[in-house]
Amino acid sequence: MTVLHNVSLLPYNTFGIDVSTEQLVEVKPSGSGSPASRYAHAIEELYEGRMFDRPYLVLGAGSNIVFTKDYHGTVILMSKGGVNASPLGEEATLVSADAGMLLDDVIQWSIEHDLYGIENLSAIPGTVGASVVQNVGAYGVEAKDVVYCVDAYDLKQKEFVTLKAEECCFGYRDSIFKHNPGRYIVINVSYRLFHTFRPNLAYQAITSLPHSSAIELRNAIIDLRWNKLPRPEVYGSAGSFFKNPIVDDATYNALLDRYPDMPRYPGNKLSAGWLIDKCGWKGRSVGRVGVWPKQALVLYNLGGCTGAEVFELSNAIASDVKTKFDVALQCEAIFVD
Ligand SMILES: Cc1cc2nc3c(=O)[nH]c(=O)nc-3n(C[C@H](O)[C@H](O)[C@H](O)COP(=O)(O)OP(=O)(O)OC[C@H]3O[C@@H](n4cnc5c(N)ncnc54)[C@H](O)[C@@H]3O)c2cc1C
Repeated sequence: MTVLHNVSLLPYNTFGIDVSTEQLVEVKPSGSGSPASRYAHAIEELYEGRMFDRPYLVLGAGSNIVFTKDYHGTVILMSKGGVNASPLGEEATLVSADAGMLLDDVIQWSIEHDLYGIENLSAIPGTVGASVVQNVGAYGVEAKDVVYCVDAYDLKQKEFVTLKAEECCFGYRDSIFKHNPGRYIVINVSYRLFHTFRPNLAYQAITSLPHSSAIELRNAIIDLRWNKLPRPEVYGSAGSFFKNPIVDDATYNALLDRYPDMPRYPGNKLSAGWLIDKCGWKGRSVGRVGVWPKQALVLYNLGGCTGAEVFELSNAIASDVKTKFDVALQCEAIFVD
């Protein structure tokens, strides 16, 4: 295992924050067999190198992370690994991908192998491992809808574990992995995908997208996404910065009385983007951080911003939303210090 010292994290976070880490190591699977046997050597090396004796951060593609300062510890980077398929009954196949693979590469691979059910998540940046930490979602589908099981190393029990989907406690951008920061290193995720393409167009924004094939739907979703969001190669961001808040009946109904044009989602979910827009933040910027003009939920880097500036702007926005609507915004992006 190679340990790199004083490494810039600029290439490792999509917000484009220029900080460094004291140490950086890459976890690579080796050999063949089960995920546990392929990652056993890499985990052993992490113990031998005493990587868990000081602060550590498992990093995917850094697309949901905001570093607020230099990281005084070890960044453990999940290297790419591979993907394979195994039969699962007559209608489905299990697609198992190593944690460091990009989720979007797995989606493309699946469609090329006539396996469906995951296409609505096309072009969500980031890795397979983080897809279950965050329970990523888009256009009416969440990772939890297709995850069959997750292989991880449990640092508390000091053993490899396989968690079935129902054991992962998935919720809205939430999971057992998120609730136990630092406890699990996700090494592999198995998705249950289907042999028949049944487009899921229930989500309002995509009902009229072309869908004669999965690849057509995938391409249409990709176009739709990048029409609304900053392209990472142009402007740094972490995607949606805040979660859509879920409120009680009384708050939801009172808001609907006051704002009959308010977007409505099932389960008393509010649109954080709409709340932020109503506070006048859309398109505004403070210093080197802006609120994306096409989607108020996204904060972006105008060039050379720091994590502290992002933190400041996100606090100002949350405070205005609290004052105007009495609704607390929660960050979807994760601040790391
Ligand atoms: C332009 C843009 C658009 C986006 N659109 C969406 C969207 O539509 N829907 C959505 O849900 N998200 C969206 N996101 C957010 C982001 O893509 C997801 O949260 C993604 O899952 C993050 O993956 P990552 O590999 O970059 O994770 P990172 O940012 O590297 O890490 C995220 C968290 O997961 C942990 N982690 C990562 N890998 C592992 C592992 N192997 N084991 C244990 N813990 C791990 C990290 O420690 C951290 O806590 C968007 C982001 C951007 C920049």
